[in-house]
Amino acid sequence: MNIMKNLLFYIILVMIITQITFLLFPFPELDKFKSKSYSPCLFDRKGTLLHVIPLPDGQRREYARLDEIHPDIISVFIQSEDKRFFYHHGIDFIAVIRSLSLNIKSGYIVSGASSISMQLARMILPHKRGITGKLWEAINAIRLEAQCSKEEIIELWLNSIPVGMNTTGIASASRVYFHKDVKMLTKLEACILAVIIRNPSLYNPFSEQELLIDAVKKLAIRMGTGSGTERESRLEKEIRSIISNLTPFEWPFLAPHFSLYVKNNLSPDELTPGRKISGREIATSLDLALNHLVEEKIRHALDKHQHNRLTNGAALVLNNRTREILAYTGSNDFNDKEHAGEIDGLHIHNQPGSCLKPFLYAYALENGFSPNTLLPDIPTDFGTDEVYRPVNFNNRFHGPVRLRVALASSLNVPAVYMITRLGVENFRQKLVELGFHSLDNKEHQFGSGLALGNAEITLFELTQAFSIFPAKGIKAPPVWKYRKKARIPDGKRVFSPYTSAMICHMLSDNASRALGFTTDSVLNTGIPVMFKTGTSNQFGNIWALGATVNYTVGVWLGNFSGKTVIGMPGSSIPAQIVKEIISIIDRSPEPFPVPEEAKKVRICSLSGGLATDACPGIVEEYLPYHASIKPCDFHYRENGMLKTKYPPLYTSWAREQLGNDMISLPYEYETPFIRQPGDGEYFYTDPSIPVSQQAVKFEIIHTQMNDILSVFVNGIKADDITYPYTWFFPLKKGKWCITVKDHDSSDIVRIMVK
Ligand SMILES: [Zn+2]
Repeated sequence: MNIMKNLLFYIILVMIITQITFLLFPFPELDKFKSKSYSPCLFDRKGTLLHVIPLPDGQRREYARLDEIHPDIISVFIQSEDKRFFYHHGIDFIAVIRSLSLNIKSGYIVSGASSISMQLARMILPHKRGITGKLWEAINAIRLEAQCSKEEIIELWLNSIPVGMNTTGIASASRVYFHKDVKMLTKLEACILAVIIRNPSLYNPFSEQELLIDAVKKLAIRMGTGSGTERESRLEKEIRSIISNLTPFEWPFLAPHFSLYVKNNLSPDELTPGRKISGREIATSLDLALNHLVEEKIRHALDKHQHNRLTNGAALVLNNRTREILAYTGSNDFNDKEHAGEIDGLHIHNQPGSCLKPFLYAYALENGFSPNTLLPDIPTDFGTDEVYRPVNFNNRFHGPVRLRVALASSLNVPAVYMITRLGVENFRQKLVELGFHSLDNKEHQFGSGLALGNAEITLFELTQAFSIFPAKGIKAPPVWKYRKKARIPDGKRVFSPYTSAMICHMLSDNASRALGFTTDSVLNTGIPVMFKTGTSNQFGNIWALGATVNYTVGVWLGNFSGKTVIGMPGSSIPAQIVKEIISIIDRSPEPFPVPEEAKKVRICSLSGGLATDACPGIVEEYLPYHASIKPCDFHYRENGMLKTKYPPLYTSWAREQLGNDMISLPYEYETPFIRQPGDGEYFYTDPSIPVSQQAVKFEIIHTQMNDILSVFVNGIKADDITYPYTWFFPLKKGKWCITVKDHDSSDIVRIMVK
């Protein structure tokens, strides 16, 4: 009966072939098969494999183009499965006749004579076993050959064969069995794979080694790899050695949050490479080594501050020119289930505190304000329906402050004053334009507290927006793709070159941030770096942003659980991380460029007006060319005495702070001014410490930061000092008179060492 069945099968087959060859049926199943998803491989910018993206069912199925596989390797598979592949049109009649005679001899089907085209046809259109199924397989193989070249067929087949271990295709197979890229496969390894694919469970290299070794040896001999007893035994040894050394493979998952971010941003084309897309390998912009360092810095800081209940952190490093993402860390540890490490901290929403201020002041500069505009830092009630009285971080009010100082020292009252002048809703719209899409569709939901960052945004948005300043006012989205010749992305101008240059200048100005942070804070790097820090929700979120001309770094620390943070961990903790990252990527950054279309003007440090002879403190400021500036009207001389007159807005503050006549007050400091030690103080030497290691620290305030001050001890010149004007006096018993002089004024203290 079986013989009859077989005969019938082949007769019908030959009849149909002759007809179908002339007909080109559309083959929609083939098109669908070609457009199925594959697993892209993500690499870092230096070529390290980060992740092979699994398919939704957990399978890995990489796509290898034919030109990525060595011809010898391809020929192993063809020899093993269908050696006359290039000489038939879908059906190998020699194999059919051979299999027919084998089947007749044995009385049942021992060989199916399936060509590679028939196998592929079965994958495209699965069918039931039996003669009808076989018939369809043959018909579809011919349809396939009519529509595809031999190269296309072999490529599609190599990428579609099940290879066990939850993988499909030889690219993933060479990864999972040999831990290597398919390009690196040797001929013998290809022989092993060619046998495994015949039946992955029967030839499982981890459990069925003897069976596999035997079959591989036969194939290798057929391939001409070894003949003769000696060569065959050497060959067997070689095969045995490869197979017994195979170890289970763990799919890499490096920079996990970044890998998932890229996966979510892949286009459908990149997930279905087919033949048209150039490869399954996706080079990303990430620098894995840098990313590891960033992870380490975060881990180290969190370990150190465990007692504060800071359990998580995130960081982003961007190249300002190319906008490439260089480091992307979403949490302390992706695998830490206890602290929800899988959450991507770059995209969670939190209040940024003072980190929104740079955008507010930049917006102000675009709307008629100047770096020398005076802003009131005095107790102020804002709002009509509810009274809102902000205070500063240091709980002090500083009276009239220049915009530059208000931003660099992160003062709160001037920021709230500014937003009430500019309009809260206008500022929200500007933030959306800068890329804060968390604030989309939130019209009129905020009050003036927006100036102090009470709206929830993400670190990703914040860092990319901060990079707009060093990028000269051009906004462009962060780029995760790596190109050898990095393209400067097209962007949109959101701030003028002057505004962006001024924000860089102000936020990298150590002297201006002294009011809020003192000059020896962690932000004082001695190199041109701009910083902004922020805290919110009772220190539950602490943030720091830093940038040089070339790079921008953003760091957030807090916890995902929303639990209260213990103590008051300051933003100097993330600022320290930012500083360390910058010192790695940009050891000697170039200075921020001088603002274009600006003039350098000498202004009074108190009033912001054009400096006059009466002004005791003078600073230089960059103002727009067209800006007109009035002379200082705070300072004047009366009978040779320097006097200061505060405008009415500041008089009550001045009276409270300075305790003097509100209309005319002597200027607070004549500089240089020795802030410490005080005049007439006593010091004692400590007998337990060597005398040579004991000294008194002198802190001198001087407003002209470029000056060199001279220090005299009992009238004899002892030293020249430069900004920030600290000096150490070695303790020696006796009475000492210390004088600090600039070219025309001086201050003196008398101390005694006992
Ligand atoms: Zn003045």
